[in-house]
Amino acid sequence: MLNRRGLIGASLAGPAIIGAGAAIAADEAGGIQLTKPCVISTWDFGVPANQAAWAILSKGGRALDAVEAGARIPEQDLKNHSVGRAGYPDRDGHVSLDASIMDEQGNCGAVAALEHIAHPISVARAVMEKTPHVLLVGPGALQFAQEQGFPREELLTPESRAAWEAWRKEAKYAPKANSEIGDYGKTSGQLGTPGGKGNHDTIGMLALDAHGNLSGACTTSGMAWKLRGRVGDSPIVGAGLYVDNEVGAATSTGVGEEVIRNVGSFLVVELMRQGRSPRDACKEAVARILKKKPWAKDVQVGFLALSKTGEVGAWSIQKGFSYALCDATRQDRLVAGESFY
Ligand code: ASP
Repeated sequence: MLNRRGLIGASLAGPAIIGAGAAIAADEAGGIQLTKPCVISTWDFGVPANQAAWAILSKGGRALDAVEAGARIPEQDLKNHSVGRAGYPDRDGHVSLDASIMDEQGNCGAVAALEHIAHPISVARAVMEKTPHVLLVGPGALQFAQEQGFPREELLTPESRAAWEAWRKEAKYAPKANSEIGDYGKTSGQLGTPGGKGNHDTIGMLALDAHGNLSGACTTSGMAWKLRGRVGDSPIVGAGLYVDNEVGAATSTGVGEEVIRNVGSFLVVELMRQGRSPRDACKEAVARILKKKPWAKDVQVGFLALSKTGEVGAWSIQKGFSYALCDATRQDRLVAGESFY
C-alpha cells in the first residue's frame, strides 16, 4: 500500500504536488482544492488529455468543449489500448467502444458497443445535441455516426490484434453467473481475464469552467476480451458519469458491472449534495460496492469527483489508481489515489 505519509513527508498544510510521471498523495484532511477553471481526469493518460482541455478552459471556453477535446486525446493514441482506436477488442476480435458526455444543464448523450468510429465521445455529443435521445447502441449508433459524417474505420491495430491472438491461445474464459466472482478477480497475468486487475482503464474527465459550469466525459473500449455486446458503466449516465451543476460531478473506472450495480457516479454526486467532500463521497461509494460484494476486493473500481467549488477527491478498491489535475497553478499533475487495499 502506498505510504501517503511518506510521500507528503512533514507537510500537513496541503497536498504535495510534483511533476507528471510521479504520483503524489492526496491531502490527509480530505482532497485537493483547485481554482476555477480546472480539469481532472482518470489515470496517467489524463495528463495530456487535461492539456487539451486546458487549452480551451484557459481561454474562457466552455467545460463541455474542454472535456470533449480532452477525451479525444487518448481516443486517438495508438499506444492506449483501453480507449478509442487501438483499444483491445472483445472476445471475438471486435473493437467495441462506449462513451458518454454530460453538460451543465443536465443534457447528456451516450453511445454503447459502437464499432468502427474512432471518436465515440464526439458521437455521444452528437446524440446529445442532435437527437431527442440519450443513448444509441451497436449498429444503430454506427449508422447515426456515419450519417453525421464520422468516417467508418478499422480500429483494430496490428498490435491489438497480436495481443488478442496471444490472449486467445492462453484464454480459459468461460463466463460464470454474475452472482459468483466468475473470472473477475482470478487474473494471473497482466491482462488476464476480463475484469482482472490489469484489465481496465477508462478516461473519465470532469471540468469546471471560468463561468462556474461543470461538464464531464467518459470514454473507453471497456474490458478487453469482454463478451460481444457487453456494455460497461462508461456510457450509462449515473454509473460511469454524472454531472449536477448545483453540486459537482463524478466519474468512474474499473469493473463497470460493479459501478452499474450501485449507480456509482450518481451516488457520489448525491453524497456530495448531502455534504460529503468529494473524497469522502468517493470512499463511501467504493465501500458500498465492497459491502454488497465482498469479493469485489479482488477487482478494481475507482471514483473521481469534482465539486462545484473546485474540490477534488478520489477513492478506489485497489492501490494503483491515479488521476491527473490541471488548473492555473498545477499543470500536468498526477496524483496517487487512496484505496482500501
Ligand atoms: N469501466 C470500464 C468498463 O467496465 C473499464 C475500465 O475503466 O477499466 O467498461
